[in-house]
This record gives sequence, C-alpha cells and structure tokens, in this order.
Amino acid sequence: MEFERILIRYGELSTKGKNRKQFVAKLATNVKQAIKDMPEIKVHGERDRMQLYLNGASHEKVTERLKPIFGIQSFSPVVKTELDVAAVNEAAYALVREHHKENGTFKVAARRSFRDFPLDSSELNQEVGAFVLRKIEDLTVNVKQPDLKLNVEVRSDGVFLSCATILGAGGLPVSSSGRAMLMLSGGIDSPVAGYLAMKRGVEVEAVHFHSPPYTSEQAKQKAIDLARKIAKYSGQIQMHVVPFTEIQETIKKQVPESYIMTVTRRMMLLITDALRRKRNGLAIVNGESLGQVASQTLESMLAINAVTTTPIIRPVVSMDKNEIIKIAQEIDTFELSIQPFEDCCTIFTPTAPKTKPKLEKVVHYESFVDFDALIEKALNGIETFPVEVAEMAEVKDEFADLF
Ligand code: ATP
Ligand code: MG
Repeated sequence: MEFERILIRYGELSTKGKNRKQFVAKLATNVKQAIKDMPEIKVHGERDRMQLYLNGASHEKVTERLKPIFGIQSFSPVVKTELDVAAVNEAAYALVREHHKENGTFKVAARRSFRDFPLDSSELNQEVGAFVLRKIEDLTVNVKQPDLKLNVEVRSDGVFLSCATILGAGGLPVSSSGRAMLMLSGGIDSPVAGYLAMKRGVEVEAVHFHSPPYTSEQAKQKAIDLARKIAKYSGQIQMHVVPFTEIQETIKKQVPESYIMTVTRRMMLLITDALRRKRNGLAIVNGESLGQVASQTLESMLAINAVTTTPIIRPVVSMDKNEIIKIAQEIDTFELSIQPFEDCCTIFTPTAPKTKPKLEKVVHYESFVDFDALIEKALNGIETFPVEVAEMAEVKDEFADLF
C-alpha cells in the first residue's frame, strides 16, 4: 500500500499557547534529524499538526523513526486518491483489509471540506461503508465503539484516507526546555535519568568521568554505547569524557578514607558544573536514587550538593530499583548497563564510606589540597565528540546541510 504522507498529532505542546510556534519548530527539527537519511521526505509543521510528505519513502521505516520522538501524541499514515468515488472505495477497501481484525467492527468517518464533491459526508459514510462491507465478509459496522475507524477527508486537492493511529512517545520536544549536563556512568540509573529528562524537553549532553588505568577502555566505551542508546530520542548527543585519574589519586592520598567518596563526588559535580557553564547549560541531571547507596543518603546529597547552586535534576530519586530497571528495559539500556566494568567512583571507595558526612569536615579536608589547579587541568583535558544513533552514524555528511 502506497502512503502519500504521515499526519502527526502534537502532544502537550498544543496547550502551550504562545510557545507553540517555537515548540512546533523544535519538533520539526527533531523529526528532520531522525529521518535525515531520507531526504525525499518533506516536513511541513502547521499550527495543529505536522505533515510528512513521503515522496516514495517507506512508511514503515519512518514509523520506526517517529516512535521515539518526544512531543508526538500519535500519527497516521495517509493514502491520497483523486476526487473520485470509485478510487476512494478501492483505497478504503485496501486500507481496511490491511488493518482489520477477524470478526472485527468498523466505522467510516467522512468529512467534506470541498463542496463540489458529489457526495456529502453522510452519503460518503454510507457509500464507502457499504462497499467495504461487501468485500470483507466477517466485518460489521459499529458506530459507537468500532475496532477500526476509517477517516476519509475530502479536500479540493484530493481525498485523504487513514485508519491506523500509532501512539507516539508523548512528552515535550527535546531541547524545548533548554540544555543540561547528564552525569552518565555505566550503571543502570543514569541512562534512565537522561531519558526521563529528555522526555520533558531537556537537551542533554553526557559527561563521563574516566580514570585510566584504574578504569578500562571498555568502561569508557560502555558509557559511549549507553549515550548512543539514548541518542535515539534526540538524534545525537554530545559526549564529554573527563580525565579524572589525577584527582582521584590525590583524593586517595590526602583525604581520610571515610570521606573519599564524598570528596570524589564533590569534585565530579564541580567539574560538571564548570563544563555546564561553558556549554550554556541550565541544569545538571544525575541518576541518584534516595537510599540506594552511601552517596545517596540525604546527608550525603547535602554535603555533595553544597559545591553548587545549579539546579540538579534527579529524575529517578524516588523510584525503587525495579521501577528503574523496568524503564531501562523499555529503552534497551539494561543489558548494556549490567555488563561488569569498573566505575571510577568505586575504585578507591572504602567498603564503608560515611553515610552521614559532615559538610564542615569535608571542607576542612579539601582545604589541604589545591583542587582548583587539578580541576582546571581536568577541564582542559576533556575529550568532546558527538555520539549518534547507530544507524544514523552511517548517514553521509552530504545530507547534513539539507535542513
Ligand atoms: P548508575 O546506575 O547511574 O551508575 P548508581 O546507582 O551506580 O548509578 P552511583 O554510582 O552512586 O549510583 O552514582 C550516582 C550518580 O553519579 C550516577 O547516577 C551518575 O549520574 C553519577 N556518576 C557516577 N559515576 C559516574 C561517572 N563515572 N561519570 C559520570 N557520572 C557518574
Ligand atoms: Mg554507578
């Protein structure tokens, strides 16, 4: 079946009044990014809906690309016919045949905005309904609660038919809420946190702390692969890898064992915040979940958080581990996350870190070391590169300036 276009219905953005124009533009950009390997498709963002003119592109492929895009409530592939009753009947039959269930019910919902068409909407409902019923034996009509609703819209430029409504990802278009730095480890929680922030329109850039030779190349690669998984929701993600070895060695040497974890986290947060400033970010996102480990008690959060007043978004803070795992499975990061590679946070961590660190003590211990110089050095050594969705990474650059 040849679909002429895909009709996209907006989610929450329809209610956002004066921001709507901006939201539609963001969504259009994100959609274009997701299909940039199909340059024949033309994207047209209107006030109430968006049209994707397929120009021969596969609607199945586009469907898969649209599903993860935030800001889309639902979408439908649409068939176009000439302004001719027989052509409409045939197209209606072909569509219903493809989508109906055994012994199912259906209904035709016709709308005529082009007055010169010979049949009005109720005549069309009857004509098309009768034609399809004659052709498909086990089908019956149910106008109140049909299993399948066939929309037929008669306009001056043709007749448009659709019957499948595919559910979109909901949420807000990524980057409509501004930019934040996502502290991305190789664990289960932080990719989920990143995904949830993206769902509310946040454009995230990933920051990963790497301490070779204590942490391996594979541990770094794992973080990159996780970033690639969530890049699906925005097209691509900027990745920053921070060299953290020298700071960790210094902490290990200078700070009493029970405070190593707290100081390490504070340094990570300070560096992330400095990077955020450079990248014009507005917030920091992490995967902390209350009570999960020693660094995630409220006392710890207080001592760690004291290095900055920047908003820290913790999307999974009140979730149970199995709730987080469920989302990780849905977004396909779980299997990657459970691969056993060392994390920089655990390498020098004592078996019993302080669960109730005192802020005055942390500040006191830190005062013996010139951390500013070390932080500056780490910032200068950051490696920054874009991470794209696997299939997109193959798209040639020649398409890049098309949009
Ligand atoms: P995760 O599953 O996300 O690793 P976790 O339960 O293992 O979380 P921690 O290791 O205590 O918890 O980390 C808490 C948060 O600190 C992480 O969710 C992440 O946001 C951040 N973090 C930890 N390690 C790193 C790292 N190497 N690079 C960047 N951020 C990190
Ligand atoms: Mg971790």
